[in-house]
Amino acid sequence: MAKISINMGKGTLDNTPKGDVIVGIDLGTTNSLVSYMVDDKPVAIKDKDGENTLVPSIIYFDTNHLVKIGASAKSKLIEDPQNTIFSVKRLMGKSYMDMKDYEGFFSYKIIDDQTDESLVKVRIGDKFYTPTELSAQILTELKNRAEDALKQPIEKAVITVPAYFNDAQRQATRDAGKLAGLDVLRIVNEPTAASLAYGIGLDKDANKTVAVYDLGGGTFDISILKIEHGIFEVLSTNGDTFLGGDDFDRAIMQYWTATHQLELDGDRQSIQILRLEAEAAKKALSSQDSFSTTFQEMELSITKAQFNELAQPLVSRTIDACKKAIKDAQLKVSDINEVIMVGGSTRVSLVKDSVAAYFEQEVNNNINPDEVVALGAAVQADVLAGNQKDILLLDVTPLSLGIETMGGLIDVIIPRNSKIPIKAGRQYTTSIDGQKNLKVAVYQGERDLVADNRKLGEFVLRNIPPMPAGIPKIEIHFLLNADGILKVRAKELRSGVEQTVEVRSPYGISEEDMARMLVDSIKNAKEDMKVRGLIEARTEANNVIMATAKFLEQNQDIFSDAEVTALSELYQLLVESVKGEDKDLINKYMDDLNTFAQPLAQKAMDRTISEAMKGKKVLGD
Ligand code: AMP
Repeated sequence: MAKISINMGKGTLDNTPKGDVIVGIDLGTTNSLVSYMVDDKPVAIKDKDGENTLVPSIIYFDTNHLVKIGASAKSKLIEDPQNTIFSVKRLMGKSYMDMKDYEGFFSYKIIDDQTDESLVKVRIGDKFYTPTELSAQILTELKNRAEDALKQPIEKAVITVPAYFNDAQRQATRDAGKLAGLDVLRIVNEPTAASLAYGIGLDKDANKTVAVYDLGGGTFDISILKIEHGIFEVLSTNGDTFLGGDDFDRAIMQYWTATHQLELDGDRQSIQILRLEAEAAKKALSSQDSFSTTFQEMELSITKAQFNELAQPLVSRTIDACKKAIKDAQLKVSDINEVIMVGGSTRVSLVKDSVAAYFEQEVNNNINPDEVVALGAAVQADVLAGNQKDILLLDVTPLSLGIETMGGLIDVIIPRNSKIPIKAGRQYTTSIDGQKNLKVAVYQGERDLVADNRKLGEFVLRNIPPMPAGIPKIEIHFLLNADGILKVRAKELRSGVEQTVEVRSPYGISEEDMARMLVDSIKNAKEDMKVRGLIEARTEANNVIMATAKFLEQNQDIFSDAEVTALSELYQLLVESVKGEDKDLINKYMDDLNTFAQPLAQKAMDRTISEAMKGKKVLGD
């Protein structure tokens, strides 16, 4: 009997034929790898020689723009740095402005060609490549590796991303998959995948709070997850995008350079050899007490105690980040039920011991920390294929999402920290008679004014049938899916006119920007409230002004001169007050005008009714 399952990514019935493998991919900053399920167990796929599971995330372009990926590209880092791309993950979904300050970090050229919404590109010779295209190269290599090993076409994948990746970065990753010929069934958070690899979250009845400590070659992430009834929720994330194993290597290099007065004088080759020796020392000291080697006919050595002293300040920084993450999640250390170790650098003894000491418990480290994320991605793929009990993976959206309304204010539709997937909507109307088009501008951020938030995109709902202002019912509906990708639909309910767009942000928001936006929103809350009050009063007053002008024009003949003069005076006062900054004054004149106009409106209404009784038309054509 065929196995029918529900594809939770698409919300449809999915009939994945037996033998159709969905792979799990960890697209890492330093290394990437691909895995799949064999007899209910995730396995990382090795290279042709059956040796390495890791594919260095490095792309080399020769003069003919032919590419080499992985280990064969790694050696080109020294030989031909300008044409060898590493750390492309750092560029995903980023604008040139986001990366400008880090230009020195890359040995290749990053540019802003100002054509494609300022997204950053990499220049190789006379060609430009987007980070999505470059990541697609790595994914293609992984796809080929899986096809070689499994001897069948691979078309479906689950790809992992850091928990803090925003919409743009997730979308860029999904696009890279598409370019590599993969149907990306789900984008999964790396800490979620790591938990799944340990089987945490697969038992629907087990509720747990988990800390995932991920120290790789160049980045550090700590994520606090809450898992309830198979639902994963990211409570908080923290970390340092420039802290990792490379810093341990550098500390050892500096130690040797200082103790042996080594003179390297920018000699790239020697620096690289010394760097490799330092890395070898670090790795050896994970299992032994001392290390020695020769370099430029000198003996270099280091003991574990000396290395620990060098590493201590770096490890302390990661523990500080853990403290912040626990605080942001509004938890205590004793609330954490499991600690999971991810990334090659968690093999360092000092790291392991410090993390265990801070969290006051044994850590989970018996799965290879380089492979654990990819293995978990394969488990997730298996869930999607319907081979395991249904589990829903849930995350939260880090910043509020909303649209621009009158006066440049943001109207939040999905608040920050909402669990995703989520659907939310609200009704709006037009402000001008006969209005045919409505602009929908989508923003992300916490401030009241759209100008202080980040614009994600805009579109126009066209062909609204002409109706008086206030009559059309326009529903704006947001759907934020489990991958964190936003779809916006605008629909005029009376006529059924509708338009849907997938909102892609022109560039992503960095972690620092996100933190800044949150801090700004708190700092400016009072001022924002004042501005919002003023804008709202002005918007309402402008509507009253327009209505009064129309009312006066249509009904002047039935009012006395004294009534017209008084109404005009109040009207004028309101018009003047709107130009000022005093919200209370605007509201006062609006009240005065409304109070005075009420009996007049009654008079006008009586006339309309009596005219209607006489068989006259009430409404125009
Ligand atoms: P990742 O980015 O997760 O692939 O992590 C790679 C980092 O882990 C590099 O800095 C490696 O030097 C480091 N690493 C790998 N194996 C070991 C080990 N046995 N001891 C210490 N660090 C290691």
